[in-house]
Amino acid sequence: MFDSLEIEAVGRLLATPQKIVLVCHKNPDGDTIGAALAMLHYLRKKGHDVTTLVPNDFPGYYKWIPGAGEMVIFDRNARAVRTALAAGQLLFCLDFNSLDRTGNMAPDLEKFAGKKIVIDHHLEPSDEFDHYFCSTASSSTGELLFEFVEAMGDKALLGMEEALALYTCIMTDTGSFSFNCNRGRTYHIVAELIDLGIDAANVHKLVYDTYTESRLRLLGFALSSRLMVWDDLHTAVIYLTKDDLKRFDYRVGDTEGLVNYGLSMEQINLAVLFTEKDNQIRISFRSKGSFSVNRLARDFFDGGGHINASGGTSKLGMNDTIDKLKEVLSHFKEKLDYTVSL
Ligand code: 5GP
Ligand code: MN
Repeated sequence: MFDSLEIEAVGRLLATPQKIVLVCHKNPDGDTIGAALAMLHYLRKKGHDVTTLVPNDFPGYYKWIPGAGEMVIFDRNARAVRTALAAGQLLFCLDFNSLDRTGNMAPDLEKFAGKKIVIDHHLEPSDEFDHYFCSTASSSTGELLFEFVEAMGDKALLGMEEALALYTCIMTDTGSFSFNCNRGRTYHIVAELIDLGIDAANVHKLVYDTYTESRLRLLGFALSSRLMVWDDLHTAVIYLTKDDLKRFDYRVGDTEGLVNYGLSMEQINLAVLFTEKDNQIRISFRSKGSFSVNRLARDFFDGGGHINASGGTSKLGMNDTIDKLKEVLSHFKEKLDYTVSL
């Protein structure tokens, strides 16, 4: 799974107590948060001094994960982040593979004096790290982290806290086992997590059955009033303006999963969600089958991710961004014209 020289090298680094900083990506999801928190508990058991950093706030439905309350949020407390980075000897980047994925925190990470280690499952890692534990075959960074702990010979250290966090990673990054879920190993790892005592159905409830009324109404509004279907391009687009978000009392995490509804239609191979933020449009891309939204996001929208799930941004206004997408897709009309079959 991993390069044995990399495992040995990082094993040596972790052989004595270190000051370790764990970092999540911007607009954190369940995988980056779960991976950082699992790592926090695991590394503490090994005797290290660990701090977890996150560029901006994360959804409330991940705040029950043990340790979530002690994550330091750069947007709110840049000074504490800088203090931790200045003292740190090792830096682990979890669920992202280029420092710019941490937004405004990136310049501080670039200056980090110690070793930088990446554990991640996205395509095309950058060359900014000292040690790489990357595989795009894994469902999630949480799954990779389990493999990392095992490769370190430390599986016996894993307990309930790590299991809850790692299960959250795998469950959220596979859409509750509906995509990225064709690797038998994923289920063996899940079985081990369940055997550690977690209640998988309960974790699902804690993450997914937590809508506020306004979030559910935002979903209804988005589907009834903000959905465009471009049949000839096999594409569904949902867009939400700042005013829409305000009207439905938007809270961080409220649009998570919304993009997937576009893909639930037959004949639709690409789903896009545009969300208007302060000075840019955030974009989520999802595809079925062979159409690579990693390429689409990288080549045209300053982003990236996986073949079937990626994200990006646009500095244009909402209408111009929608027009740009339509123009770009017109060149991929044939590539988008396929039927997913057995
Ligand atoms: P989401 O649409 O859920 O925000 O992101 C989908 C996937 O694309 C995630 O795996 C995420 O890490 C990745 N992603 C989202 N936004 C960006 C971005 O701006 N740049 C890159 N490189 N990846 C992104
Ligand atoms: Mn992930």
